Amino acid sequence: MPKIIKMKTEIYEPIIGLEVHIQVKTKSKMFGRESADYFGKAPNTCVGPVSLGLPGALPVPNRKAIEQGVRLSLALDCNINRETKFDRKNYFYPDLPKGYQISQFDKPLGYDGEMLLESETLSKKIQINRVHLEEDTGKSIHNGTSTLLDFNKAGIPLLEVVTEPDFRTGEEIDLFAKRLRQIVRLLKVSAADMEKGQMRYELNISLRKRGETSLPKYKVEVKNIGSISLLQKVLASEVKRQTEILEKGEIPVQETRGTRDMSGKTYSQRIKENSDDYRYFPDPDIPPIHFTEKEISDFKASLPKLPAELALEYKDLDLHSEIREGIIAEDYRIETFENFRELTNDKALLQLLAKLIMGELALVTINSEESLWDKLTNPELLIALCRLRFAGKLSSNNFKLAVNDLAFLNEKIEVSDLETYLKKINLLLASDDQGLETIVSSEISKDAMAKEKYLKNPNIAMFFVGQIMKQTKGSANPQTVKELVLKILES
Ligand code: MN
Repeated sequence: MPKIIKMKTEIYEPIIGLEVHIQVKTKSKMFGRESADYFGKAPNTCVGPVSLGLPGALPVPNRKAIEQGVRLSLALDCNINRETKFDRKNYFYPDLPKGYQISQFDKPLGYDGEMLLESETLSKKIQINRVHLEEDTGKSIHNGTSTLLDFNKAGIPLLEVVTEPDFRTGEEIDLFAKRLRQIVRLLKVSAADMEKGQMRYELNISLRKRGETSLPKYKVEVKNIGSISLLQKVLASEVKRQTEILEKGEIPVQETRGTRDMSGKTYSQRIKENSDDYRYFPDPDIPPIHFTEKEISDFKASLPKLPAELALEYKDLDLHSEIREGIIAEDYRIETFENFRELTNDKALLQLLAKLIMGELALVTINSEESLWDKLTNPELLIALCRLRFAGKLSSNNFKLAVNDLAFLNEKIEVSDLETYLKKINLLLASDDQGLETIVSSEISKDAMAKEKYLKNPNIAMFFVGQIMKQTKGSANPQTVKELVLKILES
C-alpha cells in the first residue's frame, strides 16, 4: 500500500491541482539537431546554435516529440487540436539564453481530458485541463560566489500535463502520479526516471473551509518536486502552513515556493506572475501544425492497453491487488504478463505466472531497460517450467536455476523432453521418487539413537530434514522430506 501521510483537514479542505513536466525520449532536441542524450555528459557538449539561442538560428520542431505528445494526450482522453502551434513565453531564464521559452499557449496539443482513479479505497475522475509541448531549460550550477551554466538540458522536449484542481487528498495525488508515470512508460514517451529529473511535479495548493463551494481567492504553487513520495510531504507541510495563516485571520500570499530537501518544507521563491506577464505570442519561425482525422485515428490505434483497463482485466483474473498493482507499475512486467496471456488463458496458471513475475522472475529481470520477455528464447519452455513449479515438482531455487538455464539460453529442448532433461541435471524434485525414501531412511539409520532422541526432543526431525536437503543439493521438496522423516521416526 502507498504510504499516505495523514493531514489535519477537519476545518479546511485542500484544493489541489497538479502540473507535471515529462522529458520526452527523443534522439535530438525539441527544436534543433543537438543530441538529447545529455544525461551524465560533460557540460555544454550537447549544444548547438538552436539550444544556445544564437542569432539567426531557426527552430525546427521534432516530429517524434509531437507524435508522442498526441499519443499521451489521447491516452489521457484529451481532445486533440486539429491545428496546433508554438508560442513564445517571454521570461528571463538565465539558463535559456533566447530570453523566451518556446511553449504552447492557446492551442495545446490536447485539452479537456480525464483520468479515472480506481483503487480499493477510491473511485474518482480527475479532469485534465491540457497537454502541451515545450522545451526544457538548461541548468545553473551555483558555485560559491559564481554561477556556471550548462546548456545540455536546454531544448530537451518537455510535455506538460496540467490537471484541474480536482484533488482533495494525498491518496488521490499519489495514485494519479503513479498512474501517469505508468502511462508515460507504457507509451514509451519517457523512461520517467525521477532520479534523472525526467518527470517533475508542481503542486497548486489552497485551502477553503469545509462546506464552501467556491475556489479560494489565492493559490500557492510549489515547483520542481522530484519524487512521488516528496509530493505527499510537501502537501502535508503546505496544508499545515496555510492552516496556521488562515487561523490567524490572514490569507496566504499568492506565490511560487520551492523545496530544499526531502523534508517537504517549502520556502518562498517569487511572487507568481500571471500569464499576461509572459507576453505570449505565436513563434513566427514555426508554422502551425495540422493533423488529419486519419493521423489522429492512427495514433489512437497505436495506443497499448492502459493501466486502468489492465487493472480491471487483472481484477477479473482474480489477481491479488498487490500483485496486480505491482505488474501494472512497470511496463516490462506488463509486457511479459500480456505475452503470457496470449499463450494461455488458464486462469490458475496466469495467477501463478503473475505471482512469479513479482517474485522469482523479478530476480531474473535485472533492469527495466529490456523486458524479461525480450530475453526469453523460449517462452513455451518458461510456461512449462511454471507448470512444474506449480505442481510442486520444482523448488523455488531450482526453478530460478532452470529458468536461467533454459528459458534464456539457446538450449534446444522440446517442452515434451523437459521433465526428463531436468531429472538428468538433478533439478527436478525427487518428491515422488522411491529414491528419496531410500536416502531418508539411510540418513536416519546412521544414528542408532534417532528414534529415542526424537521422543525426547521432536525438533531433531528438522536436523534430519536439513541433512537430507544438503545431500540432495536442494533438489528435494522440503515438505516431502519432512513427511518422510516423520514417517520413519514415528514408525
Ligand atoms: Mn512548463
